[in-house]
Amino acid sequence: MTLKRVKISEDSEADLLIKSRRRCALCFGLENDFREKKGQIAHIDKNRSNSDINNLVFLCLDHHDRYDSSTSQSKGIKKKELIKYRDDLYSYIKKWGKVNSFNDGLDYLDELIDKFSLYAISDENSTLDFPFVAKNAACNHAIFIADNIFAIDRCGSSISESIKSSYQNTGISFFVPIGSIKSTLKQRLKVKDFYINFDISNEEIHQIEFGLNDEEGDGRFYFIDRGVNLIPEKSDSIELYISDKKIVDYVLETLGSLPLNFSNHIKQLNQ
Ligand SMILES: [Zn+2]
Repeated sequence: MTLKRVKISEDSEADLLIKSRRRCALCFGLENDFREKKGQIAHIDKNRSNSDINNLVFLCLDHHDRYDSSTSQSKGIKKKELIKYRDDLYSYIKKWGKVNSFNDGLDYLDELIDKFSLYAISDENSTLDFPFVAKNAACNHAIFIADNIFAIDRCGSSISESIKSSYQNTGISFFVPIGSIKSTLKQRLKVKDFYINFDISNEEIHQIEFGLNDEEGDGRFYFIDRGVNLIPEKSDSIELYISDKKIVDYVLETLGSLPLNFSNHIKQLNQ
């Protein structure tokens, strides 16, 4: 029998791209890298005539090369490994989808404690506002750190680009329970996106700021001062949510002394 190369139909190709969201299963499984990649569809059993969707996986160009050319048992990526990482990726994506639908994502968000790497500005003459930035591996959350601000924000593509071009990795990393903070804020405040700024001047956390990033992206900001008041900076038709001391207490409790530890790290780096 000769192996016939069967071209993957356009339909199954599209299905696979959607299923994987163009995330490479090996980048995800081996490096916790969830970014979109330029890649190709690979055959897991290396049999090009078997284009069953269960036999296919989206891989970045490097990993596709590495998988296809792996001959040595010790270095090669095993089929079982690849299938495991692919399936993990698919279930991650399923939950990821849910995060966008407001209610279903809460359970998942509670579990999400993410690892952040700290970056420092590489050009001393830079006019950027934040000398320090931290981001998680998936690059969907960023933390900005200035003298008296500790802000958790959603990380868009412009932020990723600016981190790449203006900051260098300090080698310091830490964990932040993004999920539980976010889900509590969502439950209580009904916002789609948020910022949390801790004012850490005098080593005291006294303000939490959050912003609405709605579809129009006009980013309106609200402040909670020790849960006393909710002050809209730019208010028009936006509904005001009840100021809630419990939110502040919860966030402070969840993050604990993280912002303060963070500022100590930064002081050391500056010395
Ligand atoms: Zn890859």
